[in-house]
Amino acid sequence: MNKKPFAIEGFPSTINQYHLFVEFLKEGHLLQTIVLIYLDCFAETALKRIVDRLTCQECSQIYNLSYNLPRQENRCDRCGGILFHRPEDSLAYAKKRLQTFKDKTYPVIQLADENLSFFKIRTDSPLKECLTDFNRLLHILDA
Ligand SMILES: [Zn+2]
Repeated sequence: MNKKPFAIEGFPSTINQYHLFVEFLKEGHLLQTIVLIYLDCFAETALKRIVDRLTCQECSQIYNLSYNLPRQENRCDRCGGILFHRPEDSLAYAKKRLQTFKDKTYPVIQLADENLSFFKIRTDSPLKECLTDFNRLLHILDA
């Protein structure tokens, strides 16, 4: 069996998925092999990051008005495509997504914290610091 580590982002995101996933892990005697990492931030931080996001209409490269600007305004550094604000990155839509997260996913996090190997990283700080914390955790888990 290949034991190379891998990550699944955004899963499980509902209580039902969580229970099915834990059952699958138990049946395969894999429960001790899984680590759940929760990247936590304040709602205001998440909303700002979403609303400030720009996406290239050609290659889907993502930029951010707060911390990852393109070299040329509204143009993709990679392909020169025009950047746009996706409708799902609007404030109203982002608030809806955040509410869905609170209703459906947050209970999963509470359950996982009690039952799985669980780590939480604060991500309100600038991206570089978040990556440092994340890499530090990966290094600890790999040891
Ligand atoms: Zn592009």
